[in-house]
Amino acid sequence: MNAGAHGKEIKDIVKSVKCIDYNGNEKTFTKEELEFGYRTSIFKKEKYIIVEANLELNKGNQEEIKNKMEQYKNYRKEKQPIEYPSAGSTFKRGEDFITAKLIEEAGLKGLSIGDAMISTKHSGFIINKGNATAEEVLELIEQVKDNIEKKYGKKIELEIEIVGE
Ligand SMILES: Cc1cc2nc3c(=O)[nH]c(=O)nc-3n(C[C@H](O)[C@H](O)[C@H](O)COP(=O)(O)OP(=O)(O)OC[C@H]3O[C@@H](n4cnc5c(N)ncnc54)[C@H](O)[C@@H]3O)c2cc1C
Repeated sequence: MNAGAHGKEIKDIVKSVKCIDYNGNEKTFTKEELEFGYRTSIFKKEKYIIVEANLELNKGNQEEIKNKMEQYKNYRKEKQPIEYPSAGSTFKRGEDFITAKLIEEAGLKGLSIGDAMISTKHSGFIINKGNATAEEVLELIEQVKDNIEKKYGKKIELEIEIVGE
């Protein structure tokens, strides 16, 4: 899904990806054929099993890289509720708005259904305070979507993928 953070995405370093389709045929996609976009690629539309990726990395200074990693790690610790289980950032950024900011402005921080709660630390995360069920998380997602659409007329999309029913 072209994961990314701090202004960089996986697409920046991918050269090609080798896959197997569901009939067992091998196919290699070049970067251009991978149709990368914000949290999307060809793999969001077509079903393949990725078996290999060719990445191009730049040589750098070990100390500088270590420091940068530490800096990013600390930023996450400070801004994200990583002390609780969650599925990560729940909603995609909008075209002309920052979803987490809208959720915060709408006063939805801390909104809970059972043990599923909109994090008070970062409103883009739904955390599990203890024994949240998938049903509670899904219900909370629906409430947030409804609330934002009614209040701001904006449709928000999920970044996470829902599997099962
Ligand atoms: C606390 C937290 C913070 C996060 N922060 C960010 C962030 O800043 N930016 C961001 O982009 N994401 C973020 N995420 C999401 C995270 O990047 C993704 O959840 C992760 O990349 C998924 O990889 P996985 O191996 O854990 O998951 P998996 O569930 O194994 O896989 C994720 C998807 O890829 C598919 N898949 C897995 N393996 C293959 C394969 N071999 N071939 C084809 N398809 C495959 C699965 O079917 C599924 O659809 C965060 C998540 C958490 C929990």
